[in-house]
Amino acid sequence: MGSQEVSTADWQGKHVTVAGLGVSGIPAARALHERGALVTVVNDGDDERARAQAAELEALGITVRLGDGATLPPSTELVVTAPGWKPDKPLFLAAAEAGVDIWGDVELAWRLRGTNGREAAPWLAVTGTNGKTTTVRMLASILEAAGLRTAAVGNIGVSLLDAVLGETEYDVLAVELSSYQLHWAPSLRAHSAAVLNLAPDHLDWHGSMEAYAADKGRVYEGNTVACVYNAADPATEELVREADVEEGCRAIGFTLGAPGPSQLGVVDGILVDRAFVKNRQKQAQELAEVSDVNPPAPHNIANALAAAALARAFGVEPAAVRDGLRNFRPDAHRIEHVADIDGVAYVDDSKATNTHATEASLAAYDSIVWIAGGLAKGATFDELVTGAAKRLRGVVLMGADRALIHEALTRHAPEVPVVDLDRTDTGAMSEAVEHAARLARPGDTVLLAPACASMDMFTNYIKRGEAFADAVRARAEESA
Ligand code: ADP
Repeated sequence: MGSQEVSTADWQGKHVTVAGLGVSGIPAARALHERGALVTVVNDGDDERARAQAAELEALGITVRLGDGATLPPSTELVVTAPGWKPDKPLFLAAAEAGVDIWGDVELAWRLRGTNGREAAPWLAVTGTNGKTTTVRMLASILEAAGLRTAAVGNIGVSLLDAVLGETEYDVLAVELSSYQLHWAPSLRAHSAAVLNLAPDHLDWHGSMEAYAADKGRVYEGNTVACVYNAADPATEELVREADVEEGCRAIGFTLGAPGPSQLGVVDGILVDRAFVKNRQKQAQELAEVSDVNPPAPHNIANALAAAALARAFGVEPAAVRDGLRNFRPDAHRIEHVADIDGVAYVDDSKATNTHATEASLAAYDSIVWIAGGLAKGATFDELVTGAAKRLRGVVLMGADRALIHEALTRHAPEVPVVDLDRTDTGAMSEAVEHAARLARPGDTVLLAPACASMDMFTNYIKRGEAFADAVRARAEESA
């Protein structure tokens, strides 16, 4: 069954295999079943939770196979996968061999949009190694300020499938897309899209930096109005050059410096637009002040410019950009100030799950006691440590891959004191905060910016951030 065929075909009687019970698998299975497809869900796990979920689906008439996510049911005409499943899984190899298409949750949402009797809203898409959630939420805030019916969707809040098939009507969607989702979304065609930055992350999943970049670059394919790139990150511009876009679609850069023609940038504390103006050789349009961006850290101003570029590509007026940025409040665990104790600031950037994000947050402070460690996901730490060495008062390490960071510190910052916590239980965080407090001097910042994923010690980065904030608050109470 060719991809085009499926998009228009009646789902009635199609054999679809959904890979993975979970946040995207269950709604996908339901949506396809409701459209008459013969759905089989395959899942590696066979625990109590999976059985309960399976029972619910089976009651609807959906087949669920637990404990074997590897074998492709022979009659399969289409595989719909959870985005996180690695491309080298036997199930996918079998599908490829049988000539069966594989769609992720995003591809499914893209194909099903407009099938519930409502007009399909265009997508403004954001990807990149870091800043996606922030940028998408800024973008939604701007679109709302412009009076448009919109939502921030994707990895945040509303799922894409819900947004596309739910009751609410939208004029435009602000869509966050991960590299995994893009990998499995071959026919997605956004109105406009931005790649915020490109740094090594999830390389164990994608196999190589080239493969990771190529998946990110898919977000530009078929854009109709603007491909937004980061002028400070040539790799993002390269992806625009490589993309096959619609006639007339423009490359729009954003920069923290003064913008050239077809760019957005910053001049004397003002965010300005030299892209969506009548005469871009001579004219620039004021959009907002740097102080309208919350918080006004350099990387976040870049996020605001990217969001503004996408909104302007959609025709939003300058005043709405300013109002939307002013209304925006950042999410928890992203450079979140928790408390000041004895002249030391405690900041939770648990969301810094890779070296690129951590680099941005270490750059925001002058003298830091850095709490780091967790799952490295194939990353190396030499560059990060070299860049930050001068600003490190001390380091507290924890988690499975802490030795990798310790080795980099030994190589590039041997004078910086390091506490290496040899435990990966959840309680390790309070001990880490104790050690950090001991290392810190008044004026310093104790910064949780792990540069690693959290799953070796915590359920997710939120739990990790909460553990940090709890430990800090307990200290604050003691010292009060
Ligand atoms: P994502 O959704 O891509 O994970 P978030 O907006 O949740 O991005 O931010 C993730 C982490 O990256 C945070 O720790 C934040 O401090 C950092 N960050 C945000 N924007 C940028 C950026 N433009 N460049 C580098 N780091 C960033």
